[in-house]
Amino acid sequence: MASINRLGYKQIAISPLASLVSRLLVVSGGVVIACTFYFLSVIDKQAEEDVLKRVELAIALERKHREHIVSEYTYWDEAYTKIVVEKDTDWIDTNTGKYLAEAYEYDFTIGVVDHEKKAFYFIADDTVLLTFDQIYSSSLRYLKELSSRSEEETKTASSFFMLGGELYLVTGGPLINEELATPRPGTYIAAGKRIDSEYLQVFAENYYLPTLTQVQSTASVDSQRSLRLQNATGATISIIEWEQGHPSHEILPILLLLILVVLGISAFIVQRIIVNDCAARNAYEQKLYLEATTDPLTKLSNRRHFFEIGEQLVQNEMEPLAVVIIDIDHFKKINDNYGHQVGDLALSRFAEMCCREIRASDIIGRIGGEEFAIILLNVDLAIVNEVTERIRKRVAESNFNSEVSSLSMTISLGVALSDQAHTLEHLIKRADGALYQAKVSGRNRVVISEQVKEESC
Ligand code: GH3
Ligand code: MG
Ligand code: MG
Repeated sequence: MASINRLGYKQIAISPLASLVSRLLVVSGGVVIACTFYFLSVIDKQAEEDVLKRVELAIALERKHREHIVSEYTYWDEAYTKIVVEKDTDWIDTNTGKYLAEAYEYDFTIGVVDHEKKAFYFIADDTVLLTFDQIYSSSLRYLKELSSRSEEETKTASSFFMLGGELYLVTGGPLINEELATPRPGTYIAAGKRIDSEYLQVFAENYYLPTLTQVQSTASVDSQRSLRLQNATGATISIIEWEQGHPSHEILPILLLLILVVLGISAFIVQRIIVNDCAARNAYEQKLYLEATTDPLTKLSNRRHFFEIGEQLVQNEMEPLAVVIIDIDHFKKINDNYGHQVGDLALSRFAEMCCREIRASDIIGRIGGEEFAIILLNVDLAIVNEVTERIRKRVAESNFNSEVSSLSMTISLGVALSDQAHTLEHLIKRADGALYQAKVSGRNRVVISEQVKEESC
């Protein structure tokens, strides 16, 4: 963006460097925001993977916990004696029934002797509609198979089962001879826990997991937010899924605020740099412009600039104007008598004096060594006479150097008034002619170009 002032000087509002910096700021802002969103998506993905791992771990721990409870019974000779040898129903009822159900919230317990004969079967409440045969045929056969493969001394194993249309975690193992640490042939005890919504709620709370729900269909399941539960044969029989939170949503506002603050501060700094840069550039360019258009001694427009703006003015001005050429009389003598420095001072004092005598809208320039030109705007012969005479008198009556009290000087003025068809060059020529007349007719006078004078009269 550039603005143009009255003298035709272009002020550059933004430098290429500042524009590059501001573009870089915009691009880096975009990159930072893109990176932030990528970073947040990575956080969410990581959180998703973490929850999956924690659910897997929690289920593994739960299975171990329940295997441990059952193994306490299987690895206990008293249990063998009471269940198999003595068939002590009171002991069985108390120790493998109510106690297990209440202390560990089992929904059923089951005991087998001689491979398939029922030793005991306990169900915790009447919501469990399973028979001994159902459990035995569908789950215990697989569990017994798992236990027989177990390397561990207790031989206890666990697995998920669908029993009566509901999901159970069943844990079982053969009774173990404490002394020999070997399974007692034909014996098997197991306990089942129903995995319903109530259980999942408590389970999730215990392990600090998100809310878990059990689904049967795999249709709408997101693999990252669910866990497949398999039975003893490895077939998926149920799926547990959960709502995934978005940690990024918690830090996003803070992060965005932070980015905005940083970008805001950066934008402010860049803006300051741009403003300072532009100001410095404008000041520098203005300095160059002034040097190119101004006479350094008198601070008036130099010849080239005077003709440049004067030409435009003469062409565009609708009102009559006058061109005045002023030449200092016998200026060479001033130099010769007082030296160039004093001559210079006299020139600049004279310029100041002239400026004070004309309007701000008039144009003045130094067009030669001791030669000046003025374009007086919107004037008639009477005003031109008055202004030029005033200047002449003021110069003639002034002392141009306080140190040299006798330094006075006179000027000769040649004037040309414009008509519509005149160019600056033509007016200058006529003003020059008039100036010559002023010089030859004795100096210290104003001569107005005859042609216009006659026309005006
Ligand atoms: P005339 O009345 O015929 O104009 O006589 P003049 O002496 O003024 O005319 P002339 O053209 O012979 O001399 C002009 C002098 O102005 C010569 C030159 O040394 C002097 N001059 C031109 N420029 C400068 C300047 O910048 N500083 C000073 N000190 N003198 C200058
Ligand atoms: Mg001269
Ligand atoms: Mg002269």
